[in-house]
Amino acid sequence: MSGRASGLWIALLLALGGAAPAAERGAVTDVRHWSYEAYTRVVVELSQPVATQVQEIPADSATGLPARLYLDLPGIWVGRTRDAPIPIEDGLLRRVRVGQTTRESARVVLDLERWDRYRLLRLAGPHRVVIDVFGPRADPSGAASSRDSRSLPIEVRALHRIVLDPGHGGRDPGAIGRGRLQEKDVTLRLARALRRELEARGFEVVLTRDRDRSLSLLERTAIAEGARGDLFVSLHANAARNRAAEGLEIYTLDENARRQTRRLAARENGVSPTEVDELQSLLTRFRVSETSVRADRVADLVFEEIVRGMGRRWPSVSAGRGRLRGPFYVLYLSDMPAILIEAGFVTHAQDARRLRDPDYLETLATRIAAGIERFREGSGPIVAEQRR
Ligand SMILES: [Zn+2]
Repeated sequence: MSGRASGLWIALLLALGGAAPAAERGAVTDVRHWSYEAYTRVVVELSQPVATQVQEIPADSATGLPARLYLDLPGIWVGRTRDAPIPIEDGLLRRVRVGQTTRESARVVLDLERWDRYRLLRLAGPHRVVIDVFGPRADPSGAASSRDSRSLPIEVRALHRIVLDPGHGGRDPGAIGRGRLQEKDVTLRLARALRRELEARGFEVVLTRDRDRSLSLLERTAIAEGARGDLFVSLHANAARNRAAEGLEIYTLDENARRQTRRLAARENGVSPTEVDELQSLLTRFRVSETSVRADRVADLVFEEIVRGMGRRWPSVSAGRGRLRGPFYVLYLSDMPAILIEAGFVTHAQDARRLRDPDYLETLATRIAAGIERFREGSGPIVAEQRR
């Protein structure tokens, strides 16, 4: 922000009746919300990063105040610029309020209708605090409905719709390797080949991007969740300072990921390794569900198919670390089973040649699709919460 612009900003705040903030304080630049089937997402966009945690306040029957979740935002100044509550009224959240509690700290308050659990994420570029509130929504008619999500009727359906997420794109090239090979191009070519293979096996396929365009992490997960996929497959290519590193790796989410994966997770998530550590501590709050079990199973089958179907012709395809777990936001944000495939190292001479080779990508796509098909045949129907 230029000196003139920040001066104008301070003058605006003064005019709005707040005390002038210290020059270095950050601002809330936007508050947005989305209501999904399983949860409501509130995104608070900030001009600088903050360290924050969610606090809970139970409903107070004496005063009639609803249950609340709140977050303090140290170093953030909103003054009285955001005094008007943002109504949501979606059966989970009543509204969101943002206000100044002290000269040093602003606060975000979520007035709840009801809730089971929440998750908190901090993202960079732009800096955001994301709060997802889960729970059975109150019946819009006002009639009491069960507070227990486990008692909801279940829906049985086959594994059918696959969401493919070609990593990076647009302004974000991803890893750049031998001969200027760009990860974003590899992931898109692989996604297109995989779409053909999956469609040939009767799957329905949705791509988060089908051209060279920038997509934020929130946009990727919003597309995936909006598509109501049964399986999420994120496609990437690896890079390493060690030019000897090679081979394919398949990840599922692990809340206790080994430290070796931190650097990779940081790069793929677009955050710093410190933020990955923080993510890991947040993940301990997140339930380990049937979803993770299914993701592990499909990842095992896909890896098995790749080694079995490609190992003879391309022996080093399994020269990497193989089946791994890591703390990837893209795996974590989605409630559907999710796997992440690092198709090879763009920094390895032989891997890079293969990742340019349509024959190699086509064969890889065939094996991935075969693994997913085996999962469909062997896993039986999906038991999911009733779609509302
Ligand atoms: Zn990547």
